[in-house]
Amino acid sequence: MTTASIDELFAHNQEWAARMERDRPGFFTGLLAQQKPRYMWIGCSDSRVPANQITGLEPGEVFVHRNIANVVVPTDLNCLSTIQYAVDQLKVEHLMVVGHYGCGGVLAALQDARIGLADNWIRHVKDVRDKHSELLEGLDLQWRHDALCELNAIEQVLNIAHSTVMQDAWARGQKVQLHGWCYSLTNGLITNLHMTVPDVAGLEEAHRQAVAEVASRVRK
Ligand SMILES: [Zn+2]
Repeated sequence: MTTASIDELFAHNQEWAARMERDRPGFFTGLLAQQKPRYMWIGCSDSRVPANQITGLEPGEVFVHRNIANVVVPTDLNCLSTIQYAVDQLKVEHLMVVGHYGCGGVLAALQDARIGLADNWIRHVKDVRDKHSELLEGLDLQWRHDALCELNAIEQVLNIAHSTVMQDAWARGQKVQLHGWCYSLTNGLITNLHMTVPDVAGLEEAHRQAVAEVASRVRK
């Protein structure tokens, strides 16, 4: 792994900007007019999970919010205003919560480890752990960790669905689909957790099925 210096970051930036302009003249000025992304990504801050690269999306194509362990809390104005802007103003069509296997925040929640101020944030992941204690019980640590990474993404989708932003959007007939995914650091692939919610009516069934799928994966 290379560790680039700050000067190198600027050098890379200049090379990238020049290459983009050479290969696709007008790329940047085209984006100036407006951003019209179809997707919003809520992911973990982990440096190994970059939204654009993983999905092959370019600047202008995905609106991103990231925090430790991809948590969506209804009192978090930062996250909520990002979602509201994406849904109400940008009119994104898909909003995905993307957890990742091997998430350090999720592991800290699982093991009640103290890591600092984030302990208070991770409390929200512990709520997910406690909610699904029956499913997680008796699994060895690796399986429990994987399952909680998946369950956490699923539960955060539920939190978005319950937000006033989504409830209002769906009530006025806006087409916005929610998704729960989990990314593997091991092979770079995204697992679809099938927590796919097209509207408020589909919420409970999607949640029930997605959790049942987690249970069936860990019991194999
Ligand atoms: Zn993480």
